[in-house]
Amino acid sequence: MRDIERLLAEECSGVRAEEWIDKTDPADDSPVVRIPVASAEAISGAVRTARAASRDWARTAPADRAAAVDRAADGLSAYQEELAWLTKREMGRPLDEARAGVAAGIATLRQYAQLGPAHRGRSLAGAWSATDLMVPEPRGVAAVITPWNDPVAVSCGLIGAALVTGNTVVYKPSERTPATGWLLHQLIAEELPEGVLTLVNGGAEVGDRLVREPLDVIAHVGSTATGLGIRRATTTKVVRENGGNDPLLVDEDVDPAWAAEQAAIGAFANSGQICVAVERIYVHERIAASFLAELVKRAEALDLAPLVDRRLRDEVHSQVAEAIAAGAAVQCGGEIPAGPGAFYPATVLAGCTEQMRLMREETFGPVAPVSVVSSFSEGLTRAADGAYGLAATVLTGSLRHAQEAWRELPVGTVKVNSVFGGAPAGAAHPRGASGDGYGYGPELLDEFTATKVVHWEAPPVPQPAPQAG
Ligand code: NAD
Repeated sequence: MRDIERLLAEECSGVRAEEWIDKTDPADDSPVVRIPVASAEAISGAVRTARAASRDWARTAPADRAAAVDRAADGLSAYQEELAWLTKREMGRPLDEARAGVAAGIATLRQYAQLGPAHRGRSLAGAWSATDLMVPEPRGVAAVITPWNDPVAVSCGLIGAALVTGNTVVYKPSERTPATGWLLHQLIAEELPEGVLTLVNGGAEVGDRLVREPLDVIAHVGSTATGLGIRRATTTKVVRENGGNDPLLVDEDVDPAWAAEQAAIGAFANSGQICVAVERIYVHERIAASFLAELVKRAEALDLAPLVDRRLRDEVHSQVAEAIAAGAAVQCGGEIPAGPGAFYPATVLAGCTEQMRLMREETFGPVAPVSVVSSFSEGLTRAADGAYGLAATVLTGSLRHAQEAWRELPVGTVKVNSVFGGAPAGAAHPRGASGDGYGYGPELLDEFTATKVVHWEAPPVPQPAPQAG
């Protein structure tokens, strides 16, 4: 694995750049890579290159585009271990989970390779003498801007969908996982004609420059603040899959130990760094005490991987500290451990109120803020309240409560009796501050295409000229 880091170091060694990303391992602060930040000229150049390649790629047969994406999936398969290793080194994710993220990315590329050629328009019921069609066309040049928390899976989805629909792509991976992004780009670009996929590295400033370039569609997966900033900065179509503040609603008739298990998985998996992590918990007063005790037992038994970096840890801890100052009771965790890295313990807080920032905002760390409610309907009202609308989970044995919950929660995804999971190819519209458009599934192909209506009539049949005389 070190070979990839060495290869990348060698590739970057001759480069002259004004700015560099120095990425360290959040487990022990050791250096991972040093990558040059793209200059303003390099960003414009990448967009021009993508524009120049756009016409030919749009005219390439969908089956050939799909075959290239499928070969790219083979390339990723050959480097699965390296991609997983880089993910672990850059963002701290345990190797097994990083491997699962890479496997998901490969599967997504293959899924879009299958779906691309099957993506089609419609014929309309026009006059007998006419042909009326709705034809999806590539939008042109797409910017794909991605986060670090599942870097391979998220990038593969957007890049795969953009490519099979005939768009060329300028890819900007997160500055917190630049080496993973670099290797991913190499492996996919290798299977494509020159210029169809280009890479720009850097952070917010590079992203901001990129979205002001002449693009045809921008896909951003990341925080709400960034997504809304991009929407304000441009008139180009923006697909946003952004942050969440997902509630977990625990009804009075469920087993408290099972509910606590669900809550622990939802709040602490990937150290809480999942867009659909459980961010706030409403538990019925009848089972609250035993639920809380079981949740604390599970939290204390965990030995979590580090957060992506200390910047995020400081933000998580500031939300926890503010909540404690406002009256939340620490049941476990809640303190920054001594030593290297960006570790933060699984934290359970009781007595949380809607006034606290960690109940209103996305925390993106291993924190389970708990609030006791006196009825299911109080829990539902509070769960439905808020600026975000990504997902929500309800644990209940009542069919009526489950029905009320999925109908009334203003979110893209509702999960009943399971915090994670769901059938493949599910695609939801995130609500409120959580996004805009489809970021996943077959419907993502619609986002990357623009529909053209064609009305086509046969010319009139030439009439024979009247005979003279
Ligand atoms: P982020 O928005 O800070 O960064 C994401 C990407 O946007 C990065 O590549 C970053 O460099 C770029 N960026 C930052 N500022 C920019 C600007 N002004 N203009 C253009 N690009 C800019 O998010 P993050 O911290 O990398 O990721 C965590 C967030 O992503 C969380 O909020 C999480 O919920 C969200 N997320 C959402 C989903 C989803 O499907 N809804 C999936 C994964 C992550």
